Amino acid sequence: MNVELHNIRDFEVVPEECTDYIGKYVRSIQYKVDSERATEECLVYLSTTCNLKKDGRDAWVFDIDDTLLSTIPYYKNNLYGGNKLNVSDLEDWMSKGKSPALEYSLQLFNDLKSRGIQIILISTRREYLRSVTIDNLVNVGYHGWAGLILRDSANELVSVAKYKSDARKQLIKNGYRIWGIVGDQYSSFEAPPSSTRGFKLPNPMYYVA
Ligand SMILES: [Mg+2]
Repeated sequence: MNVELHNIRDFEVVPEECTDYIGKYVRSIQYKVDSERATEECLVYLSTTCNLKKDGRDAWVFDIDDTLLSTIPYYKNNLYGGNKLNVSDLEDWMSKGKSPALEYSLQLFNDLKSRGIQIILISTRREYLRSVTIDNLVNVGYHGWAGLILRDSANELVSVAKYKSDARKQLIKNGYRIWGIVGDQYSSFEAPPSSTRGFKLPNPMYYVA
């Protein structure tokens, strides 16, 4: 709970006394209910606050890992975040392309698409994972996004928040109106342009600053 409230930040590993609890939570109905509530809020916000122009420039940004695709099967073998992250091990797992879809995110993705909103994916996955990432997304039901922005070596040195913020600024420069962002980490939406609403999905397994 304190992770979700952003009271606990910058943790490297989940403390041993919490791993059991987190494992139970991410496999529970409660995790699904919490995810569903967050995606429902996106639709409430859309219908009450957004004045879509429907000119092909209305856009919505999604993160990928633990937003569209789940890494829970990977973290299940790593004490649900209790083991220190081994990036190459995680990337090996990602390159198998076996991440399942998060069902409420998939519903939201399709709902937004049917309203004519352009969907842009901004992820910290590295550029070399592009084709496996596309295959994985398509295999579990995601298709028809307007952009897929991954990290290349030039922007690996900046913080995640800055990288994502720069990517959004570029989209706005290109004429997109970004109405909302969905991510499982605050770094997906905390940097400017701050006029964009961020929607946080639950993820107590790790923290990306
Ligand atoms: Mg993520």
